[in-house]
Amino acid sequence: MSITTCRFCAGPLSVPFCDLGATPLANSYVPPAYAAVPDPTFPLNAMACERCLLVQLDHTADATGIFSDYAYFSSFSSTWLAHAAAFCAAATTRFGLTARSFVAEIASNDGYLLKNFVSAGIPCLGVEPAANVAETAIAAGVPTSVAFFGRAEAARIVAERGHADLVIANNVFAHVPDVNDFAAGLALLAGPRGVVSIEAPHLLNLIAGLQFDTIYHEHFFYWSLHAMSQVLAAHGLTVMRVERLTTHGGSLRVMASATPRGDAGDLEAVRQAETAAQLDRPAGYASFNARVGAVLSGLRNHLRPTNGRRIAAYGAAAKGNTLLNAAGITAADIAMVADRNPAKQGRLLPGSRIPVVTPEELLAFRPDEVLILPWNIAPEVAGELRAIRAWGGRLLVAVPTLTEIPIPA
Ligand SMILES: [Zn+2]
Repeated sequence: MSITTCRFCAGPLSVPFCDLGATPLANSYVPPAYAAVPDPTFPLNAMACERCLLVQLDHTADATGIFSDYAYFSSFSSTWLAHAAAFCAAATTRFGLTARSFVAEIASNDGYLLKNFVSAGIPCLGVEPAANVAETAIAAGVPTSVAFFGRAEAARIVAERGHADLVIANNVFAHVPDVNDFAAGLALLAGPRGVVSIEAPHLLNLIAGLQFDTIYHEHFFYWSLHAMSQVLAAHGLTVMRVERLTTHGGSLRVMASATPRGDAGDLEAVRQAETAAQLDRPAGYASFNARVGAVLSGLRNHLRPTNGRRIAAYGAAAKGNTLLNAAGITAADIAMVADRNPAKQGRLLPGSRIPVVTPEELLAFRPDEVLILPWNIAPEVAGELRAIRAWGGRLLVAVPTLTEIPIPA
């Protein structure tokens, strides 16, 4: 479904930001039996609202197709668990949370974050729409409501448990198409005194680092503090503190309340950085599309012709699919992509139709070049693929520019 007005303020969605063409859904890995069936494609075009400058996709792909194969369990990453535990400890101190407090988390996944509050004896509730994921949380002792979050679910929780002292919404604010219903739910659940804590990848980092490959159909919104402050304010929440995080290529943690208080952290510094980058006016969005086009043509020009090089890729993640499909790269350019996830091995990448293999199969192929698609973990991958040194193979990333990655001895 095509969108012409802002999902938040209904202003004209008229400021071009990043047009990646029509591509398949980035997480729809193709079983070999369907190799001959073309992928359905949907426009992947991010625009900014002329009025509030909230960057959003101008098309909503059919959500039933998007989430049908969704099986992301946050607990798989130890770095992520440490990040969650540190947040819970800091929030407990900052807001004086006790056995008489109430903490709620939206999109609580398998309970990896809330289990820190459970261990500390602080009452909590997760809200998670994926029933199988919620069951894992409940089995681990984390109370969880199976629901999509919005005004209705917030009202139900408040009627049952009262307002929450802390409402956590990490890496979910990009995914909810009805942003007003979601923000209203956050405000309702937090009530007059509670604090809402939101983590979202920061648009300023996306622009500065040319992270266009983090744009995909599941992410409707790309957040600046400028836009997020307006959305929260429309629902009675004032931003009171901002922290800059290194997660997801650079994220913001934004804390807001109907009763703002306490140390503002990086709030003023982030506001100034966004103003300096002109994110508060259309000019700040004007040059991104051309910079992306240069990266895409640079990658194509590097890969074609192959001149006999054996070229593989590593990491069958969503951001790789955005890059490959936007650049028009196929299995004729890159022979295979390795991934540790057994659920992806044996399948084909959507669109590019590059086969997904094990890391061992990739090394047995003895590639001359490996393009590391998840640039954020390139040093770790370089360690894993160090055997490639034996035959003089090279490791590359394409974002933000085509760069060779050093291989550790
Ligand atoms: Zn708007």
